[in-house]
Parts: sequence; structure tokens; C-alpha cells
Amino acid sequence: MSDGTAADAGPAPGTTVADDAARESPGEDRSTRAAVATLYRLTAGHRSAVAVAVMLTLAGSALGLAQPLVARQAVDASGRGEVVWPLLALLGALFLVEAAIGSAGRFLLERMGEGVVRRLRMDLVGRLLRLEMREYDRHRSGDLISRVTTDTTLLREVVSQALVDLVTGSLVAAGALVLMAWLDPLLLLLVALTVAVATAVVSSLLQGIRRASERMQDSVGAVAADLERALGALPMVRVHRAEDRETARIGARVEEAYEAGVRTAKLASVMSPAVELAVQGSFLVVLVVGGLRVGGQAGSLGDLVAFLLYASYLVLPLSSVFHAVSLVQRGMGAHRRVDQALRLPVEHTGPSDARPRRARPAPSAPAGRPALALHDVRFGYDPGRPVLSGVSFAVPHRRQVALVGPSGAGKSTVFALVAGFYEPDAGAVQFDGRPAAELGRDACRRRIAMVDQNTHVVHGTLRENITYAVPEAPEAEIRRVLSLTRLEELVDRLPCGLDTVVGERGNTLSGGERQRVALARALLARPALLLLDEPTAHLDAINEAALTTVMKDVAQECALLVIAHRLSTVRHADHIVVLHPGRGPACGSHEQLLARDPLYRELATSQMLRPGDGPPADHGGRRANG
Ligand code: ADP
Repeated sequence: MSDGTAADAGPAPGTTVADDAARESPGEDRSTRAAVATLYRLTAGHRSAVAVAVMLTLAGSALGLAQPLVARQAVDASGRGEVVWPLLALLGALFLVEAAIGSAGRFLLERMGEGVVRRLRMDLVGRLLRLEMREYDRHRSGDLISRVTTDTTLLREVVSQALVDLVTGSLVAAGALVLMAWLDPLLLLLVALTVAVATAVVSSLLQGIRRASERMQDSVGAVAADLERALGALPMVRVHRAEDRETARIGARVEEAYEAGVRTAKLASVMSPAVELAVQGSFLVVLVVGGLRVGGQAGSLGDLVAFLLYASYLVLPLSSVFHAVSLVQRGMGAHRRVDQALRLPVEHTGPSDARPRRARPAPSAPAGRPALALHDVRFGYDPGRPVLSGVSFAVPHRRQVALVGPSGAGKSTVFALVAGFYEPDAGAVQFDGRPAAELGRDACRRRIAMVDQNTHVVHGTLRENITYAVPEAPEAEIRRVLSLTRLEELVDRLPCGLDTVVGERGNTLSGGERQRVALARALLARPALLLLDEPTAHLDAINEAALTTVMKDVAQECALLVIAHRLSTVRHADHIVVLHPGRGPACGSHEQLLARDPLYRELATSQMLRPGDGPPADHGGRRANG
């Protein structure tokens, strides 16, 4: 938001969910005034549209308020037997112009509502893609998505409808009030009393409506998150026949949303009689008192008609103001969730260059400096639980370094640190001799490409997936990486070749194909440093041998850091780094490490690092879990 609220205020460094919880504390200002102030803030950047709409509403209301006066004249004139058609024509014209002006104003406000939501959604999307990596560990993606979709939709209703009702309602009610005071102060007093009773009832209900609505939005977010969990692991759900359990689990959230929705409806339905009391009661009071007066010759029939019309102009807009305030309170839950997401801390990428990479020749290696070096790196995801302690090693240009270690030793964590997903607690990561902290995340990431175990393939064509890092890659470059990764045969087999759409998470491809697509994408970027996580997983013996050749070729062009689980991969490396849980790594060649590192010896001889004993091989079938 550009008015100095969350988005523009920038990330609140170190903001955590605990901080979010603190913001939700009972000390938070939940008053109607605070809610209306929020509504006002949301319209920042659209104030001129609001001003025009207000002026149109004002003009429309003035025309509306003039109608009872003309009606009174017409009634009185007809009573005196005078010609009334010019007055009736004037009444008709006033009505038509009022309707035209009213609809123009309403359109402006509705468009503004759409504009507010568009900006919120753009801010949210831009932010949610740039959060600090830890935030994704803390939040569920389904819930974050529902903030962009469901919560903003509710906010659009609030902004456009509530603002329309608040603006028009307040202005028309104020005008009617002045004219009623002028026409008949006593009758106005009676109307005001009935309205005051209704206001008291309504205010006491608003807080409950807000709380129930907050609970409902949270539950809807949880439904989205739980559904995403189940759909993301559908093969597991199916194989373990857990559909009923998952349905029940999500059903419990749906139930919570239902209960909160019913509670909101209950409170809102209690509110309706209160508002009705104001409307009907006022009319009744005016009718009885005014009628008695006309009967007693204390006023004209025209006065009574005009006063009744003004009463409707006061009471009906007031009821729409009540409705608007209740809508604003309902939207506050959605606003809190959107606001929370907008305050989550984002990554600082350093001096940024948002342009995608262009196809370029193999990078030239600066003499002497390793492509990557870790110096005494210490890191833990949670304070007091170190994962890496004193890790130092280097990956020279055009060399292949294998990273080995037992499961949980921190191999993937090394990749996460090199990719800048997390900052080391101590020590430094350097690229070409320059600290990553000095280069900035963006510059570091331009140097690297990564193929991790998840081998991400996204919904889209095969071409889009392969050229993800270099959208403008020339055809010859694409052919080069297809040939390097032995994907040509797959492309020939697919119905539309490179332009075939691969399903959600690439699930129309086999595990090995996905892995080779990810490798082709990485190679197309011609990185200075390539990070490969278990590149021979999911490959059969033929493809594994082919990939080993690819890696040799690749190592001619760039530095290669490989997490290896197979002895064959390790033996092709120029250098091996063995991660020891809880202490610094051991480094050396295969023979050196066999001779002096018991952990390496154990890995090399145990199941963990046995030739050809990797994860399930690729037989061209679909992997169960995308
Ligand atoms: P490896 O790749 O060697 O099997 P990892 O680097 O994946 O090991 O994990 C190292 C340790 O860090 C493990 O104990 C793991 O549980 C923990 N860990 C990994 N990722 C996270 C995370 N996002 N949050 C908290 N702990 C994590």
C-alpha cells in the first residue's frame, strides 16, 4: 500500500509469527473507528475517484432531497385544484437525473474497489515470492494463497460496498436531518430517539461479528492449506487409503468455518430487527404524531408527506450505514490476514538486476580464485542446534567436487547456504574470492544453477521448463543441452515435441526425465558453478553412464559441486568433501580418504555409497509422488 502502511513500510526486519500474534493481541484497536480508518487507508491512491464519487453522490442526494419538496407542492396544489403536471414532470426529471448521477458514482466506487484489490494482490504476490526462506518453513503455502484469493475478495466487497453505503448513507442522512429539523424539530426528536436505541444495539453486536468473521477467514485459510497438503501428496493418500481421514480432517476445518459463519449470521440477524425497529418505529411515530397534528389542523397533509419522505431519507440511509459498518467489521479479519502477510520479512537480494539471463558462452574463470569457497561456516536452522560446524572447502573452476556424508549431515544445507536461502551464523561463503554478503544474493545466484532432489518441473511446455532461466535461448543452445542430457529421444516421442505441455509438477514425465529436464535447464544457463544433488538418482545403468559423461563435459565448462551417494560419482570427482556431523569436514581424494577417514571408509563400504545402489532406477514409468 502506498500510503505508508505495510507494503511501503518495507519489511519489518526480524518480524516473526510471534510478532504477528502480538499484533492480534487483545490490545489491538478493534473499535469501529479503527475499522473505518483502515477502510480509509485502503483507498489511498484512489482518493480523487472517491472525491468525484462523493460529489456525484452529493449532487444525486440533493436532487433526491428536493423531490419531497416538489411532491409536497404537488399534493398541496392538487388539494387547491391547481394544475399539477409541470410539477409532476419536474419530479420525473429530478428522479431520472438522480438515477444517472447515482449510477455513475456507484460505478466509480466499485471500480475503486477493484483497484484496491488489484494493488493488494500485486503487493501480496510480489511479497510472497520474495519471503525469507525461513518464512516458508513457518507458514503453510495453502494459507498464504488463500490470503491472496479469498481474503482480498472479501476486502473488495468491503471497500466497494461498504464505502458506497457509508458515503451515500452518511451524506443523505445528514441532509435529511437538517431538513427535518427545519420542517419539524419535535418529530425529528422522536425519530432520533428510536434511531439511538437501534444504534446502541447494533454497536454491541459489531465486535462479535468481527471476531466470528476473523475465525471464519482463518478457518477458510486452513481449509486451503489442508487441501493443498492432501493434493500435493495424492499418491500417498491413495495408497494408504486415507481419503476418508483427509476428508474428515479438512471437513473439521470446513465445520469451523461453518460455525463461525453461522455465528456471524446469528449476530447479523439480531442486528436486522434492531435496524428494523429504527425504520418501522420511526415511520410509525411520524405517522401517528404527524397524522394527529394534521387531524387537529396543526399541519398540512403536504407537510406530513414531506416529513415521511425525509424520515425515509434519514432512516434508510442510516440502516445502510449500519450495514456498511457491520461489513467493515466482517472485513477486518480478512484485512488482518492480508496485512500480516504484507509484513512478513522478505529477502534482501542486494543490487538487483531483474533481467533474465541471456544465452552466453561458457564463463571465463578468473585466475587463481576458486568459483566457490566456504570458510569456517557454522549454521543451524534453530539456535542451539548446529547443523554445520566449521565447514571449509573450495570448488575451483573447471573442477568437480563431491560432497558426501551420512543422511542428515547437512549436505543439502550446504547447497541452501550457497544458494543464499539462509545466511551462515558464522564464517563466509565466497564466490571468486568475494564474500557472498558483499556481492548480494542476486549477484551470487546469477553465478549458480542448481538441480536438487526435487527436480522441479512446473506446469507448462517442456520448452518453457528448459528455458526457464534463459527464456530467450536460441534454438541451437536448446538443442545442445537436449543432446547433452540425452533428452532428444523424449522430445521426438512427445506429440508436440518441445511444445508438449507437461502436467502439474511435471507428473507426465518419469523421475529420470524430470531430472534430465532440470539438468538441461541448469546447463542452458551456463552457470559458473553448478550444484547437483544426487544426479544419478532415478537413473538406470545406461542413463547413469551417460550422465557421468555429461558431468565430465560440464566440468570442462564450469565448477561442479555434487552431492554424491554413489561411489561411481565420487570416483569421478577431483576432490571429495566428507561432512562429519558436529565437526569440520574431511577433504581429499578417494584413496587418501579411504586411508585416513573412518567415516568415509564406512560410507564407501556400506550401503550409503555403494556402486550402483542408488534410489529406484528410471524405467520410464511415472514416479508415484510428483
Ligand atoms: P543431508 O542433505 O545431509 O541429508 P540436510 O542438510 O537435509 O542433510 O539436513 C541437515 C539437518 O538439518 C537435519 O537434521 C535436518 O533435519 C535439518 N533440517 C533440514 N532442513 C531444515 C529446515 N528447513 N528447518 C529445520 N531443520 C532442517
